[in-house]
Amino acid sequence: MTLRIYRLPAGPIETNAYLVVDTVSGDAMLVDTPPEVAPIAAHAAEEAGASVQYIVITHGHWDHIIGAAATKAMWDVPIVGHELVRDRLADPALSARSPYPMEPVVLDLAVTEGDELTIGGHTFTIMHMPGHDPAHITLYSEVDGVMLGGDVLFRDGHGRTDLPGSDQAVMNTTLKRFLTLPTETRVLPGHGDETTVGRESRWIVQIP
Ligand SMILES: [Zn+2]
Repeated sequence: MTLRIYRLPAGPIETNAYLVVDTVSGDAMLVDTPPEVAPIAAHAAEEAGASVQYIVITHGHWDHIIGAAATKAMWDVPIVGHELVRDRLADPALSARSPYPMEPVVLDLAVTEGDELTIGGHTFTIMHMPGHDPAHITLYSEVDGVMLGGDVLFRDGHGRTDLPGSDQAVMNTTLKRFLTLPTETRVLPGHGDETTVGRESRWIVQIP
């Protein structure tokens, strides 16, 4: 295994950021930027001897984006996300539900379904998975058997669908896509412990 993934919970609602490191090249990406994540991520990257190449934003909710400006200031690497997250990164007023002030950041690289991000020898395919947030992307590596899943699929459940921009019917369609992935695929969510596609498939198959 030349891929190491460090879970870095941060902020008031324990949002998981992940530092994804190719241990051969040292190349890495940070997935999601909760409040106060910058010093935690800096420490993890230093410990791992990692050189961060990308900051990836899974979706536009405040607890995943507040730390974007601070991490960008630290590493000056491209901020990557879906085009639909651009406005919320650029205009803090659109994150009105946030208990924190937000510094605006620029979406440097817009990605969507089928695009790829490579970290050293590991390639992640972008999946556009709306339902919780129209801008939601996940990063999937079939070879490594892992998905960075944000707030789509959790252990024993899925992301909220009662928020502005969320939609249960769209979420149901998104969730059924997991049934096409290998059951042993690890899913690393934006909150809480990791799970597998097989574990969650037991209830996903029952969605009408
Ligand atoms: Zn969310």
